[in-house]
Amino acid sequence: MIELTQAPLTLTFELFANRNDVLAFVTTRVGGESSDHLASCNIGISEFEPASTTISNRQRICTALNIDFEKMTFQSQAHSDSITVVDSNNAGAGNRIKTQSISNSDALITQTKGITLFAQAADCVPIILYDTKNKVAAAIHAGWRGTIKRIAQKTAQKMIAEFECNPQNIIAGIGPSIGRCCYEVGSEVVDAVSSSFPNSANLLISHNSKYHFDLWEANKEQLEETGIPIQNIEVAKICTKCNNTLFFSSRHDNGRTGRFGIGITII
Ligand SMILES: [Zn+2]
Repeated sequence: MIELTQAPLTLTFELFANRNDVLAFVTTRVGGESSDHLASCNIGISEFEPASTTISNRQRICTALNIDFEKMTFQSQAHSDSITVVDSNNAGAGNRIKTQSISNSDALITQTKGITLFAQAADCVPIILYDTKNKVAAAIHAGWRGTIKRIAQKTAQKMIAEFECNPQNIIAGIGPSIGRCCYEVGSEVVDAVSSSFPNSANLLISHNSKYHFDLWEANKEQLEETGIPIQNIEVAKICTKCNNTLFFSSRHDNGRTGRFGIGITII
């Protein structure tokens, strides 16, 4: 990934870096006001710190990126395959008050300029999609449940079905998340992956008599299946647990951690 802003530190994908019609960004832990185990740029409102601190971090990011905080849009993220279209009616949901985030939703789509779609993560996979021709953007949260429910694929399919997107014109960024290096999973996940993916053998890597699940490949494959060209899909290949000084990792911190996230704004 490429550095976008220094304070707070944000990154972007090479596929999105030189475009003047869309802004794509991944936030990091660096450059915020949070302390202790949330140091320092936590953007997930939780019981661990006053909401005012979290909101201030969100505002710092918007200021650095020159985007409108009032249109920074959050969703509840319930490990579902529910997708919400965002327009002027629900833009900015949840930016100050968590309970006002778009409910029952793990993916957001918009074709409205200036709205920032945001997905939070701390090991789950944050993904963005953008149709460069029809100018349609999406932000997706995919943990193992969402990955098995194929939320990334369903989001691309919804863009194709309802926004007349041609998958050949869609570019995708698969952001930092727990990598297969660190993502040991139990029998519940192994069974679910095996029954959901015909080619599960390359998604479940045997390691010391346990299995590791490759979330990056599972999401990349389902985007390819919708017709998005492989060269249009960029995988950050950054493991959040291995890089926990840059990104929050729930596994590294046993759940007592903050959130970073991925955002996309049509300019
Ligand atoms: Zn790792």
